[in-house]
Amino acid sequence: MLDSNFLKENNAKHMWHPMAHPADMRNNPPKMIRGAKGVEITDIDGHTTLDAVGGLWNANLGYSVDSIKQAMTEQLAELPYYSAFRGTTNDKAVELSFELNEWFKPEGLTRAFYTSGGSDSVETCLRLARQYHKVRGEGERTKFISLKKGYHGTHFGGASVNGNANFRRNYEPMLAGCFQIAAPWTYRNPFGTDNAEEIANRCIAMLEDEIAFQGADTIAAMIMEPVLGAGGVIVPHKSFMPMVRDVCDKHGILLIADEVITAFGRTGDVHGSRLWGVAPDMMCTAKAITNSYFPFGAAMMGEKVVEAFESNKDAVGNIGHGYTYSAHPVGCAAALATLAEIKKAKVWENAEARGIELQNGLEQLKEKHQIVGDTRGIGLMAAIELVDDRPTKTPASKPAIAAAFDAAYEAGVTIRVSGNNIILSPPLVITADDVTRMIGALDKGLAAAASV
Ligand code: PLP
Repeated sequence: MLDSNFLKENNAKHMWHPMAHPADMRNNPPKMIRGAKGVEITDIDGHTTLDAVGGLWNANLGYSVDSIKQAMTEQLAELPYYSAFRGTTNDKAVELSFELNEWFKPEGLTRAFYTSGGSDSVETCLRLARQYHKVRGEGERTKFISLKKGYHGTHFGGASVNGNANFRRNYEPMLAGCFQIAAPWTYRNPFGTDNAEEIANRCIAMLEDEIAFQGADTIAAMIMEPVLGAGGVIVPHKSFMPMVRDVCDKHGILLIADEVITAFGRTGDVHGSRLWGVAPDMMCTAKAITNSYFPFGAAMMGEKVVEAFESNKDAVGNIGHGYTYSAHPVGCAAALATLAEIKKAKVWENAEARGIELQNGLEQLKEKHQIVGDTRGIGLMAAIELVDDRPTKTPASKPAIAAAFDAAYEAGVTIRVSGNNIILSPPLVITADDVTRMIGALDKGLAAAASV
């Protein structure tokens, strides 16, 4: 096993990290994780913490699910890889498609297009949304609308519909024809109110206004997360997504639900669209679908889209999009085993119950620590927003947030910091004791942040 100092030195020398400044690697080196068991991770120095990040919102069953590991091992022995391009497929891919059809029957999402992760699933939906309109002879519909604060991955299409300037500015110009409206966010919004329902109505009015301005017949799709994740866990009023659905229907615009985080239980329902009672036309999934033991995703297609493509006999209906690893048999085997475990444990029920305990705990932390401006979340996705001053909502400083991370880590819980937010997305199989442990460590983290 390589020596800890050697690894730390060479991490700084030879590796660049996603969403990090390479120059930071020496002064503020990342925790180097070497092992994991259950819902805990252990770093190279032997320090074990409860993983309140769930990897990256994705190790929803934790790290010790033998049935997934075994399914992958068996698949590696049987067929480690074969392409699914046109002339070939594999048995696990078909089995998984049948299984996903069962999962998404209420929404009528009957076709799966496999990808290597969330950004790929988003890109697939965006590209096929444009093609859907071409197939229908509506080729001028090419634009996309999305929400500010939304996150849709890092490919150029996904980044172009992204709603966070930090992920766009250094990469501009983005894809032409992408427009964002305000997110239905109670804590910060341009409407001067914190009434969730009123904010939802205002956002919908903005959406209608933007559609009228662009011209409905120029818009291919609206893409949104049912609960915004990376943007700071923004939970819209329950009326919001159904209203978006209605607006899209009225104007012939496809609705793409980006459920890379919310599919398979995180919100406390089976997926986020179902939580709000909406059937999207397309759905992006990834992350939890293989419990993240394999990089994999599925872009799910609804009846309207399926009908348009499958009834078309012209070249325009040919899907000119795909990945070398689309329908990777090991990924499909991992997904089948994962979905079986999720279904058996009904993890969304635990996510809902533990989520209520977590929100209660966060409320208490807010009462105790002035540095907490807002706490929010649903199921097992939550955020604590840190501010210097509650009335002005001035975001807390970077050192304060870093201190929160360090103190929580020291106290035995790994949290994620993003901007001035602490993000919590633990595995969905955590216990009530784990929630208590999280709140205890956060208490220490917030005290440390306040003392900076
Ligand atoms: N969409 C959403 C909602 C996400 O949260 C993410 C990643 O966090 C992505 C897309 C991109 O997924 P990936 O990082 O697997 O490419």
